[in-house]
Amino acid sequence: MNKKAMYTISYGLFVVTACRDGKDNGCITNTVIQLTSEPNRISVAVNKSNYTSEMIRETGLFTASVIAQDATFDLFRRFGFQSGRDVDKFDGFDSFYRAENGTLIITEGTNAWISAEVEQTIDLGSHMLFIARVTDMNTIGDVPSATYTYYQEKIKPKPEAIGKTAEGKTIWRCRICGYEYVGEELPEDFICPICKHPASDFEKVTG
Ligand code: FE
Repeated sequence: MNKKAMYTISYGLFVVTACRDGKDNGCITNTVIQLTSEPNRISVAVNKSNYTSEMIRETGLFTASVIAQDATFDLFRRFGFQSGRDVDKFDGFDSFYRAENGTLIITEGTNAWISAEVEQTIDLGSHMLFIARVTDMNTIGDVPSATYTYYQEKIKPKPEAIGKTAEGKTIWRCRICGYEYVGEELPEDFICPICKHPASDFEKVTG
């Protein structure tokens, strides 16, 4: 079985936001999908370890802002590589306004937003799958949407290390965020400290 087949599936990228007890949060996901059009329904799978997942489970409300090709890596760093449990992801950020359902719409590096109310929640083990009815939506601009491949090729900074370190040690690089681990073997239970993806998302850097 060749896991690389999964890499050929095309995905969009989204900032999914929630608000609970006056606290706003959001995370980056590639899992927003339109399910039906009459009525309009979308689904989003959010890793349970994400604070946003817990907030959506409790409030049943979220907005997915669609990431466009003019998004900067800073947007991914802000919403993707830190936890809302530790920081206020909106601190020092002012490119947003509040949707009618109380969650925030991201207006920088995005081209549309979709607010939704959860109808069904399915526990998938690592992720919660939310099936939600669209309650409001609009477009923001006409910059094309960024696919996950576009992010990998154009937005994620190009790695600097090639092959081994100056000391001749092996480098493993996170395919998601670019974090580098140095060591002959990457522990099987290793979790990326930046983006929280597992060891299977790391690749050995070869010269
Ligand atoms: Fe990572």
